[in-house]
Amino acid sequence: MSETQAPLLLLTDLDGSLLDHHDYSPGPARSWLTRLRARGAWIVPNTSKTAAELAPLMDSLGLAGQPWIAENGGVVALPADWLSAYPLEEASAPDAHGLCRIAVAMPRDRILAVLEELSGEFAFEGFASMPVARISELTGLGEGDAVLAGQRDASEPLVWRDAPERLEDFRMRLAGHGLKLTRGGRFHHVTGDSDKGVAARYLIARYRLCERVRPWTLGFGDGANDLPLLAAVDNAVLIPGVGDTSQRDRELADYPQLADERRCFRANLPGPQGWVEGLRHWLANGQPEEWTSRGLGA
Ligand SMILES: [Mg+2]
Repeated sequence: MSETQAPLLLLTDLDGSLLDHHDYSPGPARSWLTRLRARGAWIVPNTSKTAAELAPLMDSLGLAGQPWIAENGGVVALPADWLSAYPLEEASAPDAHGLCRIAVAMPRDRILAVLEELSGEFAFEGFASMPVARISELTGLGEGDAVLAGQRDASEPLVWRDAPERLEDFRMRLAGHGLKLTRGGRFHHVTGDSDKGVAARYLIARYRLCERVRPWTLGFGDGANDLPLLAAVDNAVLIPGVGDTSQRDRELADYPQLADERRCFRANLPGPQGWVEGLRHWLANGQPEEWTSRGLGA
């Protein structure tokens, strides 16, 4: 990348994409992170993890201080500089890394207030009401990790204790408060109306507003919840998933732009190997003409 090119804003899923699904290592992607950072690229993890779970990973990947998106697009952390020209009332004070947190759709305390209101009508058990030992029992996490899983900014996992046929009723009532109910592995998740793509567009828009430059955006993911992210960037890399990918493949039909190989590259290899394969593909083929030195007349 030369000085004349637009800055690169790279948004990536972690588990099964930048990180190996089994050993959580970035493998061959690690040296690329270093190289891209040295050239001034922004590397933005976009994950379903909580901020508390993400923090040690940011450190171990050498990405501390980079922006991030957590809780499936529920919360975004931006460098304070990106907010200085147009401050946001709802942004937190900068943390030790100079990042300010913003709940993109709805902060957890407001989600909990709605759930409190509905708890008289429906039977469910949310993380906020559980002791750590109970979260640990339900998730299979050790106590330390269960504490981190319980520290949330923008979502509430819950176990449904009511009749299955009342779930649709519950969903409708949540929708009346601007909330979504999605099914995860073990839990139902109550969130504001955001996803990895909504949060990515939000972050890119804030960047453009403050830096007054259009970045080249790259997105990486392997799951159904990554498809909105892949649809929100200039060039995407779809990494083969681990295990059953039938839901993802069904949902792909909702994103016709991802069938266009000029927009989305399908990696052959899983995890970080596929991540590197896709990065190399777009570094060789992806930059639109106007972003090359020639296109800028430099
Ligand atoms: Mg993944």
